[in-house]
Amino acid sequence: MATRVDPTLLKEMKKYGAVGVEKCFNCGNCTAICPLTSDEYAFPRNMIRMVQIGNTEKLTQSLDPWLCYYCGDCSATCPKGAEPGETMMAARRWLTAKYDISGHGARLYTSSKATWKAIVGYALIPLILLVIFHVSRTLGLHNYGDIVTDRVDINAFAPTMWVWAIVLIDFTLLGGRLLRNVINMFQLTMGTKSGKETIPLSVYIAELKTLLTHAFTQKRWLDCGEDRSRWIKHLFLVTGYGTMLVLIVGLLWWFQTDEIYPIYHPQRWLGYYAAIVLLYTSGEALIGRIQKKGEALKFSHHSDWLFPAFLFVGTLTGILLHAFRYAGWAWPTYIIYTIHAMILIAMLDTEVGIGKWTHMLYRPLAVYFQAVKVRAEEYNKKTAAALAAAN
Ligand code: SF4
Ligand code: SF4
Repeated sequence: MATRVDPTLLKEMKKYGAVGVEKCFNCGNCTAICPLTSDEYAFPRNMIRMVQIGNTEKLTQSLDPWLCYYCGDCSATCPKGAEPGETMMAARRWLTAKYDISGHGARLYTSSKATWKAIVGYALIPLILLVIFHVSRTLGLHNYGDIVTDRVDINAFAPTMWVWAIVLIDFTLLGGRLLRNVINMFQLTMGTKSGKETIPLSVYIAELKTLLTHAFTQKRWLDCGEDRSRWIKHLFLVTGYGTMLVLIVGLLWWFQTDEIYPIYHPQRWLGYYAAIVLLYTSGEALIGRIQKKGEALKFSHHSDWLFPAFLFVGTLTGILLHAFRYAGWAWPTYIIYTIHAMILIAMLDTEVGIGKWTHMLYRPLAVYFQAVKVRAEEYNKKTAAALAAAN
């Protein structure tokens, strides 16, 4: 039977950064060279084929794009310059947008104008809240907070408990978005939406260790290409980001203080560790993209710049805030505090659940779902054999 080609998917994938898909003549070199592919998951050739023929449904249900860690070996060896590695990357962007039923992710991926609008919109939230807070105090509507200028008093300028409450509300909303998208990914990739598969809960539980191992270590990356330094840097980035997340979301009451602690105090060295790691890894990622270092950084979709740029500028403003506070410069501290808060809110609201940040979650989930499928197949075979023996 002839395959019916639908060009819509290819057109759409181009907006998500796919380049050169039409050049592929399905020789299979890319799949032969890929260190992470397998018989059941024969990417990237199968992905390119799906895009070429326009099999949207199959691509939506596929875990394959998440199982690629973008070493770029396939692109380097493709005889036609079809850039299979970048197609895998574009497929990850496309799937991230597909899992997000609000359509917000899709808008941000397909339009840099919409991305800028969202960044500015989210960034204005902390600024507007601070203005309302201080104007209403001036009008006598409450007597919390103040702007102290003879010394630095951040907790009068932006009371910790108020800021913490806003951070927690934002995280609850973002957590809801993330959970909804993860459920959608689960339903699409595990066939529960179409009612195709029923896998016993015991199989999911038995493979939980796979999820935890890959969520914390992303160790599959070690099998991808020969450059282990990418994995090490990524691990550092995750620890730095995780430390900052815990300090801001879980421990803001402890982290945002006007008290100056001695250098050996954990509040200081945890902050310094996170700042050094984040500044180095995000700075290096940005330089790599500017210089187009290696296959994986040869192409940059506008969404690829966002996360490292936010991390870099967010860390830099955090360091300046720390320096101004220690120098006792009141106004510069309050101004940079406001800018810092604007950047962090814009980053979280444009990244969590819809941006590149979400790779950190979707990748280990995909490895987990794949392991569940393999175990379920073994389980079904054993059950069938036991039934056959009993009959
Ligand atoms: S992407 Fe390149 S290497 Fe892979 S099947 Fe197509 S032409 Fe061959
Ligand atoms: S980029 Fe590397 S891991 Fe990804 S499909 Fe190509 S060869 Fe495989």
